[in-house]
Amino acid sequence: MNSVDRKDAVSTNDVREVIIIGGDPAGYTAALYAARANLNPLVIEGFAWGGQLMITSDVENYPGYPAGILGPEMMQDFRKQAERFGTEFITDDVTRVDLSERPFGVWVGDTEYRAESVIIATGANARQLGLDSEKTLQGRGVSYCAVCDAAFFKDREVVVVGGGDSAMEEATFLAKFAPKVTVVHRRESFRASPIMVDRARANDRIEFLLDSVVEDVLGTDGGCVTGVVIRNLRTGEKTELQTDGLFVAIGHDPNTALFRGQLDMDEAGYIIPKGKSTETNIPGVFAAGDVQDHVYRQAVTAAGSGTMAALDAERWLAAQHGQPEAALATPRNW
Ligand code: NAP
Repeated sequence: MNSVDRKDAVSTNDVREVIIIGGDPAGYTAALYAARANLNPLVIEGFAWGGQLMITSDVENYPGYPAGILGPEMMQDFRKQAERFGTEFITDDVTRVDLSERPFGVWVGDTEYRAESVIIATGANARQLGLDSEKTLQGRGVSYCAVCDAAFFKDREVVVVGGGDSAMEEATFLAKFAPKVTVVHRRESFRASPIMVDRARANDRIEFLLDSVVEDVLGTDGGCVTGVVIRNLRTGEKTELQTDGLFVAIGHDPNTALFRGQLDMDEAGYIIPKGKSTETNIPGVFAAGDVQDHVYRQAVTAAGSGTMAALDAERWLAAQHGQPEAALATPRNW
């Protein structure tokens, strides 16, 4: 077993070939490929490893699991598979990185780890309303991804919170399954583009409650969502609305604070990769998964980009060491 929870069990003397920051589908898949390419990866996976899949219940859209699988179980499987080929893990948070010179420095508290290449897979978090009841009912009716969970709400009623493009898109998608979708938005005007609002408004399965917020999520003890408490911000009036699901679609935040000022990012803080690769503006630093993708945001696309990052890193390291392409574990064959 190479899994360790204590960082002092992992050597800090050597310069590693690759350090992967983040334990999510992208990070573990990058580790799997890097380990199988004999790059001896170290994954500093974060104290709360697993990413957004840890607050998901059934995952039915990941190929290879025909009966579906629980999100946390799937992440255990990802991790185990990376471990099987020799990946080492530190179950703690990275507190600082220095990407200004090679080898790169990655700190967990006072302990520094050094590596020739770094793969960043710190993911993004769906913004939450911040209600205790929302947390309790996550994966049991409270969802942050309509594409993932809409099919569970066939012939059931749902509420969507938000007034941006995501909320309009999710409401329109959910209306294919649910006979009634209520969009709750805190203002009267929308941040979403007019065409997306018009499309949602034209759908007779979608209703709007404006100038309103969800103040509480109701559920049976140990069971699922049964309703929400809505507060009208103009009148202060509170009403209970029966619903089977709550989709929170108020945006995402990429976990990139550690890299600010060192890596090129867009306005929202997503790392900008070069072209179709996972390379960042710093040679030897790669980014995979939701940390560089605000469009697809699926476990399977994150895993795919983790693969790309490991292959990119392997190739980059081989070029640094003057190795011929044919020596790579996965030689380019196009
Ligand atoms: P967004 O544009 O930031 O919109 C977030 C929405 O959630 C806003 O309406 C905001 O209200 C509301 N909100 C934020 N915090 C809230 C809270 N605590 N309680 C209640 N409501 C809250 O996020 P997004 O919709 O995810 O879009 C992100 C980016 O992706 C945008 O650039 C968008 O255009 C793009 N996108 C594009 C498509 C598409 O073109 N198909 C689809 C999805 C997303 P306020 O308006 O009052 O601030």
